[in-house]
Amino acid sequence: MHQKRESLAFDVVFAGGGPANLAAAIHLKNLIGDHNNRNGSNRVEAEIALIDKGRHAGAHLLSGAVLDTRALEELMPDYRERNCPLETSVAAEGVFFLTEKKKFAFPFLPEPFRNKGYPFVSLSRFGAWLAGEAEKAGVQLFDNTAATAPLVEEGTVCGVLTGDLGLDRQGNQKPDYLAGIELRAKITVFGEGAAGNLTDELQRAFPVQTGSSAQLYETGVKEVWRIPAGRMEAGDARHTFGYPLPSETYGGGWLYAFTNTDLSVGFVTAIDRTAPMSDPHLNLQLFKQHPFVASILEGGTLVEYGAKAITSGGLNAMARIFGPGFLVTGESAGMLNMQRLKGIHLAMKSGMLAAETIFEALLRNDVSAAMLQGYETRFRNSWAYEELLASRNFRQAFDNGLYYGLLQSGMELKFPGVSLASGFLRKKEGSGELRQEKKRFSGAPPKPFHPDGKLTFGKEECLYRSGTMHEENQPCHLQINPSDMAEICLERCREEYDNPCSRFCPAKVYEFTETPEPALKINASNCLHCKTCTLADPYGIISWTPPEGGGGPGYKLS
Ligand code: SF4
Repeated sequence: MHQKRESLAFDVVFAGGGPANLAAAIHLKNLIGDHNNRNGSNRVEAEIALIDKGRHAGAHLLSGAVLDTRALEELMPDYRERNCPLETSVAAEGVFFLTEKKKFAFPFLPEPFRNKGYPFVSLSRFGAWLAGEAEKAGVQLFDNTAATAPLVEEGTVCGVLTGDLGLDRQGNQKPDYLAGIELRAKITVFGEGAAGNLTDELQRAFPVQTGSSAQLYETGVKEVWRIPAGRMEAGDARHTFGYPLPSETYGGGWLYAFTNTDLSVGFVTAIDRTAPMSDPHLNLQLFKQHPFVASILEGGTLVEYGAKAITSGGLNAMARIFGPGFLVTGESAGMLNMQRLKGIHLAMKSGMLAAETIFEALLRNDVSAAMLQGYETRFRNSWAYEELLASRNFRQAFDNGLYYGLLQSGMELKFPGVSLASGFLRKKEGSGELRQEKKRFSGAPPKPFHPDGKLTFGKEECLYRSGTMHEENQPCHLQINPSDMAEICLERCREEYDNPCSRFCPAKVYEFTETPEPALKINASNCLHCKTCTLADPYGIISWTPPEGGGGPGYKLS
């Protein structure tokens, strides 16, 4: 028997607990508080909720990361007194081109690559701290709560639906079954990171692509290591490009020393459904085997592992960031500067601009789309827009290969907006469009890789360090239609791409078995919620829906 859905009403619901929405919720509460302190008779009262599918604040947040503190300073000038968990600041940095055995240092660092003075940060710790500040400000936080769909009525978004709890594998109700609830709101703010399932639905319901390029994505795989003292100084930041990627594939590595013994090491690999041969996890393992990296890590211990997709198309690939009843923030809106390898500050700024728009809407009691358009206007008048405008052609240039990308980006640093060849930018494409004729090699070596268990690790072993877990007895949150499984996964895709999902997934969710007959097993409980499969699957047949709230990784240091 179906339980009736309960409904809770708020003024504003934030879907997603990353830095964009957390900054938005805090800023909105601050704006309301300041206004009410000044205007005793014309008060604004607002019930504000923020939901997140992670089992604790910051559980699903992962980034390199070096933080540009500009937005944080605007949001909370006293962040240091509030014990913001910033690590050491960058004191020395370098960029290197790697061949298989050698490294070549860049003789100078172009301005966008400079990080000196910016602090390292663990995004999961930073997010947990921001969540604490939001709660102190009076925002109602709901962890363990997965939104499964936007609630759309008469062409307007009026909240989100949360997932049912207590269904078994077959979808039957267990004794502890609880129907999902409607979280209704005058304004709903979507900030779910790259390739969010709600944002995808919004794009289908309210399709407006404003940029000239299709969105681009990478997958970042990160490990936190404890290393013997003396290998790197606290504050050292190293970026690399080249090995193990071929020049056709965009990506690169990083090494950040938080302390003399604590290190973030990671690798970013472009993912593309037209070239689904990448294995982002393997690329990190090969990167660690490079003599330059291995000499730093040898004798150390892997502490944490994780992965996430990154939105990298920049300004040219942004879709509309507002619509009837809703705003989109952070990476869901494309707020990431791939040239600077930074997005946290842009995400936070977008959240603050969203908060200012919402505050005005609540003050004037007008939540019309015309009022919410103020978010777009504020963004276009902000430093965030200026920064994204200056770097707008960076990532797309590398679609023509590493050397072209370097030439183009070098030229653009000198002459902003000038391109080597007109028309090199990607044309718009449907997200599901196949371009199989344009297969490109993307870094996966033909020979099997054997991790040594000291410096390099297989996916299962890494998973133990991600804290990922899911309720086992629930419907599989990764669905492939049975006929597609038989005709595409076990036939066409195998033949054309040689089981790409078994490589591009960094968590070994997709496993092909041959006996008693060829089959594709989906180990959904391994899932890191990185969304790579929804972006790299060449046939677009994998459907990712949020599992029960609380499932997924449990990052603490990433
Ligand atoms: Fe990432 Fe999960 Fe998809 Fe694997 S199944 S690629 S871990 S989202």
